Order: sequence, then C-alpha cells, then structure tokens
Amino acid sequence: MAERRNVVALTGAGISVESGIPAFRGAQGLWGKYDPLEYATLHAFVQSPRKVWEMLSEMVSVCGAAAPNAAHKGMAALERRGVVRAVITQNVDGLHQAAGSRRVIEYHGNMETLVCISCWKRYPTRERWTPGTVPLCDCAEILKPDVVLFGEPIPWLAQEQAEEEARTCGVLLVIGTSAQVSPACDIPRIAKESGAAVVEINPEPTSLTASVTDIHLQGSASEVLGWLVGLLRDPANGHP
Ligand code: NAD
Ligand code: ZN
Repeated sequence: MAERRNVVALTGAGISVESGIPAFRGAQGLWGKYDPLEYATLHAFVQSPRKVWEMLSEMVSVCGAAAPNAAHKGMAALERRGVVRAVITQNVDGLHQAAGSRRVIEYHGNMETLVCISCWKRYPTRERWTPGTVPLCDCAEILKPDVVLFGEPIPWLAQEQAEEEARTCGVLLVIGTSAQVSPACDIPRIAKESGAAVVEINPEPTSLTASVTDIHLQGSASEVLGWLVGLLRDPANGHP
C-alpha cells in the first residue's frame, strides 16, 4: 500500500457494525428480523410500502443516530495522506463522508434522500419523514429512500466509477462485506483480473477469501485499520 499508493476500498455493512448499525447477515443481522423478500425488494415496496416502511423507519433512525467509528476515520486519514484514492461503499449510512472521506462512491444510494417512484421528485429525508409516519410526495405517492432495493438497478454513474476504480487500482481493500450481493460482489474480481492485490479485512472468511483474496487480515474493521494506519505512518511498528 505504501509503495503503490493507489489504493481503493470496497466497504460493506461490517465497517459500520462498530457504529451500532447491524449488518444484514450474521449475528444480530437485520435479516433475522426482516425477511429480505418481504421487506427489501422493489416489488415489496410497490405492493406494500407501509409494511416496508416498518423496516425503513428502523434503518433511518439507526443511521441518523450513528457516528463514524475508528475504521471510517482511518479510511479518511489514509485518503488525506494520499494512500487511499477512493471508497466504494455499499452502505447507505453516510458515515464515510461524516468521517471526512471525500471521494466516496455510493453504490447503493443513501438514506439522506427520498425519491418518488411515480414523479421522480426528490426530498431530503429529514424534511419529509418523522418517526412513526410514512413520508409522502407532493403528488401524494409514498416516498422511497434513494437506496437500491433488490430488483433495482445500480445508479449508472456509481457503477461506471466503481468499475473504473476497480480496473485501475493497485490494491483493493475489501472491508466488512460478505460479498454476496450482486453486482457489488464483481468488484473484487474485476480488480484482481486487472492486476490489483486484494486485501480483505473481516473477522470471518467470506466467499472471496479462498478464491480472490491475496491477504486476509482477520479482525474487526476498527482494530485492523487502526493497526494499518499506524503501520503506514511508522513501518517499524509492524506487528498486528
Ligand atoms: P453483510 O451484512 O452481508 O455482511 C457483513 C460482513 O461484515 C460479514 O462478512 C461480517 O463477517 C463482517 N463484519 C461484521 N462485523 C464486522 C466488523 N466489526 N468489522 C469488519 N467486518 C465485520 O453486508 P454487505 O456485504 O455489505 O451486504 C449487505 C447489503 O445491505 C449492502 O448492500 C448494504 O447496502 C446494505 N446494508 C447497509 C448498511 C449500512 O449502510 N450501514 C447496514 C446493513 C445493510
Ligand atoms: Zn411524486
């Protein structure tokens, strides 16, 4: 990383677990509580938006109350030092930007904006939504957070930029993602096939670990990134 410098990160729900936002899979995962087929597809939203807002309300409240943790801050520090070039995030919580990262590609959108799927008008979430209510558009349609539900396409600019970053980076850091959501899970493979080293930070092995990953740094995002930031500052402190 110190030599190549053009490091790009792909982050997932795991990087925000230590900020109090549960991941989707694994212990305490959101999917244990809400079946994704019933709550996280575009079809479900169109059929029963009020029901889907039960889950969305919880996500908006939890994301709104969360603050960046040491891992988000570590990523921002590495960008300031010219080591990290961009963060591609599958998260919708805005915590990379809150920590000071400037080049953030939001692959699955974000919770800060609501969009009308009838007239495409957009609104800041805090202006239209209060806990216990369902937000409405001026056209009376129920608004949807500007996040990518299953069955929706990836915003084209985010997808173009993410693939370009993956094709041209020297190192891809894959942090806190189970790499099971398509097409985000293609990004590590694209980077690898284009000659990048793939370094995974996750307490658990994933579907990438045995196939695509070159180095698995096993541990929580804050612990491993804290060590990595220190190591890049002072290579003499080389022991995890
Ligand atoms: P996932 O829930 O499928 O997997 C989370 C991964 O993080 C697991 O591999 C787990 O081992 C790892 N993990 C758990 N704790 C960790 C820690 N402290 N440090 C590092 N890694 C840790 O998450 P995903 O792959 O991102 O896919 C879920 C989808 O759901 C994403 O597309 C995302 O948009 C969405 N989501 C977003 C948020 C958020 O914005 N914070 C939260 C939940 C889900
Ligand atoms: Zn509308």
